[in-house]
Amino acid sequence: MADNKVKKGGIGIELDHIFPIIKKWLYSEKEIFIREIVSNSCDAVTKLKRLISLGETKIEGYEGRINVRLDPNGNTITVTDNGIGMTADELEKYLCQIALSGALDFIKKYEGENSDPSATGIIGHFGLGFYSAFMVSDRIEVITRSFTGSEAVKWSCGEDGDYELTKEYEDAGEYIEKCGTAVVMHINDEGREYLSENRLKDILDKYCAFMPVPIFFENVGKEEDKSVEEQKSEPEKPLNDTTPLWLKNPSECTDDEYKEFYRKVFKDYKEPLFWIHLKADYPLNFKGILYFPAISSEFENLEGQVKLYYNQVFVADNIKEVIPEFLLLLKGVLDCPELPLNVSRSYLQNSGYVSKISAHITKKVADKLNSMFTGDREEYEKKWRDVKTFVEYGCMRDKKFYDRVKDSILFEKCSGGFTTLSEYLEGAKETHENKIYYANDKTMQSKYVSLLDAEGIETILLDKIIDAQFISSVEMNSEKLRFVRVDSEVADALKDDGSIDAPPHVEEVFKKFVGEKTKIEFTSFKDKTTPAILSVSEDMRRLDDMMKLYSKDAPGLEIEATLTVNTGSPLIAKIGDTYETDPEKSEILAKQVVSLCKLSQRRLTPEELSSFLADSYNVLEKY
Ligand code: ADP
Repeated sequence: MADNKVKKGGIGIELDHIFPIIKKWLYSEKEIFIREIVSNSCDAVTKLKRLISLGETKIEGYEGRINVRLDPNGNTITVTDNGIGMTADELEKYLCQIALSGALDFIKKYEGENSDPSATGIIGHFGLGFYSAFMVSDRIEVITRSFTGSEAVKWSCGEDGDYELTKEYEDAGEYIEKCGTAVVMHINDEGREYLSENRLKDILDKYCAFMPVPIFFENVGKEEDKSVEEQKSEPEKPLNDTTPLWLKNPSECTDDEYKEFYRKVFKDYKEPLFWIHLKADYPLNFKGILYFPAISSEFENLEGQVKLYYNQVFVADNIKEVIPEFLLLLKGVLDCPELPLNVSRSYLQNSGYVSKISAHITKKVADKLNSMFTGDREEYEKKWRDVKTFVEYGCMRDKKFYDRVKDSILFEKCSGGFTTLSEYLEGAKETHENKIYYANDKTMQSKYVSLLDAEGIETILLDKIIDAQFISSVEMNSEKLRFVRVDSEVADALKDDGSIDAPPHVEEVFKKFVGEKTKIEFTSFKDKTTPAILSVSEDMRRLDDMMKLYSKDAPGLEIEATLTVNTGSPLIAKIGDTYETDPEKSEILAKQVVSLCKLSQRRLTPEELSSFLADSYNVLEKY
């Protein structure tokens, strides 16, 4: 080879700085090299296509393609494209100057930003480009021929940054037919894992599954057991889907396509409940599909997966800075070509663009829920239990979301079926205006529920952990509204206008069996068969619940309770009357009443239960 064809060079003193940093800091993300190299190839093909369409060059029947070739025995991974290629000058300019300075800029920014590599998050995802391949290679060769028809060039660069550029490289035909570029990565010890076909295909699938140019995979180390005949008849299949569903027009996509896409991308074989196809034009300019996964139990892992793409190139999952937090419960894809992804996390947190994306998505999600609610209430009710957690969570996180969807929020009724808040309040106008009675345990609180039910008062069921927080946030958004647990007061509707004077001795005898913190009140109930009701203040109980939530060992407040004694109950009258003649009997009866009241309000403590059983047997024996 003539000497003038070979040029030796060094990438410059900065290299001493750059390589160790690339290797060390980005260690945990070294797999991104595949995305960087393959997306460069995609760009090269896209550029050539554009030139062809502009008439700048002519290639008959041009079809762009990328080959990823694994040679586990030769320790190489080669990415070849038939794109625009580079001339010798371009190669020097782009790879030795521009790419390097890009990488350097990135590292400078990165250094200033945060010295903790684990905190890189999004900034580790873009901007490193070509040089990221040195994380896994000790030598990289680039063989390229420009579409302009100039001679092929070979560039070979070691991890110390010394390179050799061979102009008029004669063996390019091994890689390149007409024009294009091959990047041969000689894999080092750190990159060994990528010499496994499965691992390499995994990362190709992760980062390149939707890149716009077909990618073909070949493992030259693998024995082919298929006959030549068979191979011929089988058309080659690319690894990727070059026209992902999110790019299509929503009106052209079928339900089956959406479901199939969901299965493929999220490997979730449960059908999604519904989905939203997002297409925001200028200036937001992003596309995507968000799926509502079927969540069958509250204890299921609620972590969703929202994959972020940049022009069909996968960037990362669940980037908190970009996706509204409550949407992280969903599954989906978002392609945001406008996002300057090589900027810092603090930029994203404060970016107006990012918050606009977030607001747009939130609005679309709310619109979808509202249209399902108004469009087919029955169908919506069937899905409600599955979306409820997500909606409630969203409402608590985002007031605007709450305001948009509040009329489509359903509450399950203890009697079966669903109601909205406004429907409930409409029905409550006469009897308990602005109050919503709820139970958090249908069985335990059945006594209270049935008392209200007898008066035509609906009770809603709020038995999920999230419900308690959700109702507080609804109350905060509406001055007058009050959620009241069925056992926290005696509803006015249960009372009649009978005397509320305490019958003689009754207060005295009950006092002996209720704790110091329990008040005794008298009222006349419509239902004469209920002698008394125990209630616990809503506010106090919520406070107590909250303390228990924060610390399991919290002693629990000694909650003030009220025993409301029914002046119209014959049993109460009997307790009062008996006191004069047989105080012991009166006390036994009162004690039983107190125990039964507790029993219909909550679970008895072991001591209370033993004592209740003993008393009951005693009563049976005696009378
Ligand atoms: P970026 O892709 O962000 O511009 P890179 O460091 O990855 O930065 O690449 C630097 C430049 O090298 C590219 O902009 C492109 O001009 C050139 N290049 C890299 N790979 C290829 C390729 N496969 N075909 C043609 N040009 C390439």
